[in-house]
Amino acid sequence: MMTLKSILSGLLVGLWLVLGASTDVYVHAATPTPEATTETVALRVVAIEPFLADIAQNVAGERLKVASLIPLGVDPHSFEPTPNDLRTLAESDVVIVHGAGLEEFLQDLLASAGGSYYLIEATKGLTPRGWDVEHQEEMHPHEAEEQEAELSAEEKVSEAVSEEGSEEVHSEIHHHHEVDPHFWLDPNYVIRYVENIRDGLSQVDPAGATLYAQNADAYIAQLQELDRWIVAQVAQIPPEHRLLVTNHESFSYFADRYGFQVIGTILPGVSTGVSPSAQQLAQLIDLIRETGAPAIFLETGSNPQLAEQIAREAGVQVVSGLYTHSPSPPDGPAPTYLDMIRYNTTLIVEALRWESGAQE
Ligand SMILES: [Zn+2]
Repeated sequence: MMTLKSILSGLLVGLWLVLGASTDVYVHAATPTPEATTETVALRVVAIEPFLADIAQNVAGERLKVASLIPLGVDPHSFEPTPNDLRTLAESDVVIVHGAGLEEFLQDLLASAGGSYYLIEATKGLTPRGWDVEHQEEMHPHEAEEQEAELSAEEKVSEAVSEEGSEEVHSEIHHHHEVDPHFWLDPNYVIRYVENIRDGLSQVDPAGATLYAQNADAYIAQLQELDRWIVAQVAQIPPEHRLLVTNHESFSYFADRYGFQVIGTILPGVSTGVSPSAQQLAQLIDLIRETGAPAIFLETGSNPQLAEQIAREAGVQVVSGLYTHSPSPPDGPAPTYLDMIRYNTTLIVEALRWESGAQE
């Protein structure tokens, strides 16, 4: 008798050259008995980020194992794929990407990986907010030239215009239009991720569709419960004290949903690749003083030195260790996506509630 694996390995080759190709083969491969939901399928599924792999694993349940391309604790904004990562993608049957601009390396990666996998974009259907970033950089002349070479035509035009009135050549102002990918810090948006993953897995593996639908419903219920829990936690902070200063611009969706105001960020922008100017840091310190924001919140992996310096000058505390872009290791405080959001909320509520009441 042929095993499921041998049937699949015979049929899989080149199956997904066309995205969305119908895959009836699995209907025959997985016998639709009442026990069907407990069997596993030999599909290689990889999600780009560990938190996304965790979300997808909740949809896949016992039927599929979802691996993560990026290791735990690595910043997805600045991740650089290795030849090994290309091989992993090429050998995958399903690749789950976050999208919405989070993976800056993605276009190059997908273009060069080869292979014939089914692509699921978790944020499909969500419209990210735009973000105009202005940063001033002091550069040595040769660095300025290199930078120039990387700018798009549009950016060169805007630079030419901005330079007209000034003969200063030691610093340059760059304008970037970026989109904010950080939907997942508001669990309500993750419902859409779950639906997209459910639909994608069901397309590739129709015999598992019932299971994926059940798992998705159960996980969506947990996301809704998490949302209610955050609302209840945040209610402990008076609205006028809901002030956030963070490492980079990652909390705007969270802030909108739960009534916070993002006072400022250390790094100017929705990514982590840009350094602030001395002037921007001075402005941030002024803003912290003016608004009375009591803390700077730092995610794991960010550089604490600059934050400590700003905190000292502004007379506030640094709350570090927020898990925004990666879960913790299994024995840490936030090994799953749901834990990440709970843990961050607890840190934020403790820092801002303390400031607003208990100490006075
Ligand atoms: Zn980010």
